[in-house]
Amino acid sequence: MEQLCYLGIRDIHEGLTQKQFSAVELVSSFFSHIHDFNPSLNAFITLTEKQALESAVKIDEKIARSHGLNLLEGVPYCLKDLFCTLGIQTTAGSKILEGFLPPYDATSVKRLKAAGGILLGKNTEDEFGHGSSSENTGFSVPRNPWDKKRVAGGSSGGSAVSVASGFSVFALGTDTGGSVRQPASLSGCVGLKPTYGRISRYGVIAMASSLDTVGILARSAEDVAFVLQILAGKDRYDSTLPDVSVPDYGAYLSQDVHGLKVGVPEEYFGEGLEDGVRKAVEQGIDVLKKLGMEVKPVHLPHTKYGVAAYYIICPSEVSANMARYDGIKYGSTAKDAETLMDVYLESRSRGFHPEVKRRIMIGTYALSSGYYDAYYLKAQKIRTLVKQDFEKAFEEVDILAAPVSPTVAFKIGEKTDNPLAMYLNDSLTIPANLAGICALSLPCGFSEGLPVGFQLLGPQFGEDRILQVAHAFQKVTDFHLQHP
Ligand code: GLN
Repeated sequence: MEQLCYLGIRDIHEGLTQKQFSAVELVSSFFSHIHDFNPSLNAFITLTEKQALESAVKIDEKIARSHGLNLLEGVPYCLKDLFCTLGIQTTAGSKILEGFLPPYDATSVKRLKAAGGILLGKNTEDEFGHGSSSENTGFSVPRNPWDKKRVAGGSSGGSAVSVASGFSVFALGTDTGGSVRQPASLSGCVGLKPTYGRISRYGVIAMASSLDTVGILARSAEDVAFVLQILAGKDRYDSTLPDVSVPDYGAYLSQDVHGLKVGVPEEYFGEGLEDGVRKAVEQGIDVLKKLGMEVKPVHLPHTKYGVAAYYIICPSEVSANMARYDGIKYGSTAKDAETLMDVYLESRSRGFHPEVKRRIMIGTYALSSGYYDAYYLKAQKIRTLVKQDFEKAFEEVDILAAPVSPTVAFKIGEKTDNPLAMYLNDSLTIPANLAGICALSLPCGFSEGLPVGFQLLGPQFGEDRILQVAHAFQKVTDFHLQHP
């Protein structure tokens, strides 16, 4: 039954409605696959096997009563452990939240539940999303399914491993500076970071609020589009969502890409880009040409300032968002502390990962009086310039094509002692977050036997376009069909 684990949404829907397999058989085969292979991959903090099987029984009863199914009904998925799930432990990958049972579901989770998706578990990740390799965690480090000595990418590492290894059909992650696209690239699946404000973040534990987005990981662009259709659109609990209508993403997928204009930003192919990555991405661009798309060079001159600006803005917002973890309101408390101040100090110093502490310190410093103008304000000005670069480029082209990560998956432990080297991983993903535009990572080849991702970037609310191109690409290539 292992082959069931690599089916897409459409196939599962067909299989269930035509009674080729039952929902219980489907969910059971996912769990037996997870039990066989996850122990060496560490994709999960929590498995929700009992609840998942109960939901599957209900779906089988519905099929038996010959009621039709919605497209997502019975489809197994996972969540990065940053999404609040009613009564199910939600840790944000941090010991400080161990044992936290949220009293409500995040809006995305609520929508997936209503659509009939079946939650299989909560994924490992970098604490609160702080990282690029999922090594900054209070739990186990997920491993790359193509080479277990290497990182899965981060911070949504466990979610990318789940999808790439057939532990779930799709997963939700979050992308603040690249955390959906980068692990998708390193582990070999599709990862969409939508426009800021396209998907509600209500109930998603905040990292950096002006940058955070909910992202979708799946093996095909088509499946990403199906899930986006369920999640996109206004939510009265999240005031950062503008009233922009939600297109029929499925309808866009089949449209011809012939004649679309693709810009290739020269700045994304500079120093530090591995040859193998460059080659795979260039071959990806050739595929777009063969599909009849018009490719031309463009310039995004402020790209090189992106990382510096991000690592001021992100920690500043992190320092504010982490203030609420005081050892009292949620999760674990230092039980042996004697005074109130000791509760704060002990809970925070034991509960937070060193990377979280580093960001709290940098952010607090950057926001303090006297430094605010020199750092935070300047970083915000750069952010505007990066956004304007994209706006200019999108006056000339429909989408942009570029690498996602300058390298393939690196070895576990290789960069943990060098935060700067770790931060530089995100140089090609961060600009899209600063500008609030949409972007996705798409498997486009292999280098040294490891997957390489191809980044397609679109203007704000241009998800339909990049998904359309990604779908056309996957129709003529088979990188997404290869399994570790
Ligand atoms: N790697 C980046 C960081 O460490 C991005 C993280 C993210 O997108 N959550 O901040």
